[in-house]
Amino acid sequence: NVRIRHICAIGAGYVGGPTAAIIALHNSNVKVTVIDQDERRIKSWRGRHLPIHEPGLERIVRFARDGTNGSMDTISEQHQDLPMGQAQAGSDRNPSRRPNLFFSTACAETIASSDMILLAVNTPTKMHGVGAGRATDMAAIEGAVRDIALHAKPGTLLVEKSTVPCKTGQLIKDVLEAYRPGVVFQILSNPEFLSEGTAVRDLLQPDRVIIGCESTLSGHRAAAALANLYAAWIPRSNIIPTNIWSAELCKLAANAMLAQRISSINSISAVCERTGADVNEVARSIGMDPRIGTQFLKAGFGFGGSCFRKDIASLTYLAESLALPEVASYWQAVLIMNDFQRDRFARNVISRLNNTLRGKKITILGYAFKKNTGDARESPALDVIRILMQEHPHTIAIFDPLCSESDVKRELAVLDDCRGLVQPNGPIEIVTDSYLACADSNAILVLTDWDMFKNTKPATPDKFEATELPQLDGATPANIFRLPHSVARVTKPPSPPQTPKMTGIGTDLAEDLMSEPECPPSCEECG
Ligand code: NAD
Repeated sequence: NVRIRHICAIGAGYVGGPTAAIIALHNSNVKVTVIDQDERRIKSWRGRHLPIHEPGLERIVRFARDGTNGSMDTISEQHQDLPMGQAQAGSDRNPSRRPNLFFSTACAETIASSDMILLAVNTPTKMHGVGAGRATDMAAIEGAVRDIALHAKPGTLLVEKSTVPCKTGQLIKDVLEAYRPGVVFQILSNPEFLSEGTAVRDLLQPDRVIIGCESTLSGHRAAAALANLYAAWIPRSNIIPTNIWSAELCKLAANAMLAQRISSINSISAVCERTGADVNEVARSIGMDPRIGTQFLKAGFGFGGSCFRKDIASLTYLAESLALPEVASYWQAVLIMNDFQRDRFARNVISRLNNTLRGKKITILGYAFKKNTGDARESPALDVIRILMQEHPHTIAIFDPLCSESDVKRELAVLDDCRGLVQPNGPIEIVTDSYLACADSNAILVLTDWDMFKNTKPATPDKFEATELPQLDGATPANIFRLPHSVARVTKPPSPPQTPKMTGIGTDLAEDLMSEPECPPSCEECG
């Protein structure tokens, strides 16, 4: 049997950090170290304020990282009443616990002392060369595997957590063999299905944990070792063994199908606009069919985030390289529909503003691709801004409660149109107060479904005419609020985002941890 005492996660991002924290939380006898080349990220994970925002994560990290009787900062000193005994599953019932979650840039040493390594590095779309715009950029995977080959002890278990093209397990084997010929490493595929904004809940109560392994005795032993870690808080019936290629493909396929539903309902919304049908009524009716279900049937301006687009692009490229052009173009259409919907939305805004944005101020409420995350990558807002900028507005003011100014600027800089425009006195302003962002605005576009924007009511309603775009009626969150005159000033502070409540297996402790206040999004120490 494989005994796991030390786990290392390579990649301290949205997957590596939260996954390591939850594994550490529920396996107090296992040391878990997250490593990354990015010193700033590691410093944040070690400090008071985490580099990513996920409801409930901060306290869970502090609990596992600092233990219950450490320094001033420990949970035990601040919150003596945590119900440790009943809270933790399985053997993990020790009321006082030592820290078992660590963050480090000492990659070689950490890899060398690990029994299991989780690969949670980024796998973006390749931007240059063969397959640019579609193929997965495997540079980070290859770099991490090279480090593993150079430093890991023989027999270390390698777990793919990153979303990778089918057959990546073979690529990893080849790289390992090239650097450490003859040394055996077991490779598992364990794709991560968490969603940003609900990562803690998703990790605590996953629908399924897929573990793909080789069909050999040592492959099954490796899979059992990983399954045992998860079994500390997840019912065994939800841990599904499979082969490596199926595990790799099921993640790409799951994301592609979720995105496809969004594009499907968006395509129906375009038909609704031309016919007078109401897309919300149509979606409701469709969703009542149990074979279809209600999820992911909300028309809007399409999917964003770091995963859906790149995973469909990767699936498309995979199909092309397997000489399946029909399959490739089927999935490509999902992306085309997504672009179409955004384009349509932006053009509707311009049309509602008399086809000219010159001298006008447009406010964008919400930059992140969804609520409860500060992830600014691949936001639909970026495409909307690109189109609006072509009309030379006087100002585009952007407010998001969690996205940092530097992240939004970095994303905007990738648009050729916007290069250099986010300068002092430039047309794009990133504003830290939602009401200041709205002041004197000609149009307010709600681009993220933050709860705080749901009842965006001005303090001076008589001067603030709220109008929904008729063409995208019901296509929330694409509401537009238009000021007839540039005199409205809004002063009422918005309510802060709510932390979700959770129930279910293994969540008592997490729920307790989540109920504590976290650092505010505007915390100065976070920067
Ligand atoms: P991320 O960009 O937030 O984090 C990746 C981290 O890996 C970065 O901090 C980077 O510095 C680090 N890294 C890269 N190469 C390294 C190396 N050789 N050594 C040490 N550190 C290295 O990415 P993410 O959002 O956490 O996604 C990671 C993977 O998980 C991707 O494949 C993604 O598709 C998948 N995934 C993401 C989500 C999500 O919601 N973000 C959900 C499920 C799966």
